[in-house]
Amino acid sequence: MRILLIGPPGAGKGTQAEKLAAHLKIPRITTGDLFRKAVQNKSPLGLKVQSYLEKGALVPDKVVLELMEERMAKPDCKEGFILDGFPRTVGQAEGLEKWMVQREMVLDQVFALDVPEEEAVLRISGRRQCSSCGSAYHTRYHPPKKEGVCDPCGGKVVQRKDDEEKTVRHRLKVYSQETAPLLHFYGKKGLLKKVDGSQSPETVFKNIGSLIK
Ligand code: ADP
Ligand code: ADP
Ligand code: ZN
Repeated sequence: MRILLIGPPGAGKGTQAEKLAAHLKIPRITTGDLFRKAVQNKSPLGLKVQSYLEKGALVPDKVVLELMEERMAKPDCKEGFILDGFPRTVGQAEGLEKWMVQREMVLDQVFALDVPEEEAVLRISGRRQCSSCGSAYHTRYHPPKKEGVCDPCGGKVVQRKDDEEKTVRHRLKVYSQETAPLLHFYGKKGLLKKVDGSQSPETVFKNIGSLIK
């Protein structure tokens, strides 16, 4: 099963990808997490992408495609994957398609999560994440049991630098300019399913589950 999740920052892609990955027993690949890890490790990739992440701008397609092609070729992806946050431009979608065609793979479904802009901003301003295992939290909707401490791993729960409101507004603009055209791209191929992301995480998950073929 090969699934994509598309949606503006704060739509709940990461939250749903985590649930789907556990349910379908296939890995979740989150481009943002891969980039953040590289920045944290100060690897050559990290140094290359740091300034884009800080500004809330998109990393160039070539860099993203190289990283993702390497990741998707790993053995744990044999039965499929859930892509969360990739592709984010038509160029990336075309690159992904070419890569899959060369390997005789098909994309099964694309889910587009939608939430109103103000809800996205509210969600992101309260978003927290475990700096160790990546588990997602929200100050109001889903706080860790002990403040600042990750439930499953005890790691430190922190706020992402690019989750400050000013950067979030910019990322939302980038989404509507660069990523929203993908809805048309995948709609034309008959792969797109729209899901209302403004309901509870459990309801959204149930709705996605009922659409999985
Ligand atoms: P969110 O889930 O809030 O939309 P992500 O964690 O997916 O944010 O992405 C964080 C940042 O990483 C983006 O603002 C961008 O700089 C970079 N990034 C992530 N995925 C991509 C991608 N597919 N193409 C280009 N840049 C990306
Ligand atoms: P994305 O990956 O699309 O940027 P996340 O899954 O990281 O979105 O969600 C952003 C924030 O909103 C997180 O703090 C998360 O816990 C919270 N969240 C996710 N889905 C919902 C939902 N359906 N209702 C309320 N809050 C949510
Ligand atoms: Zn953790």
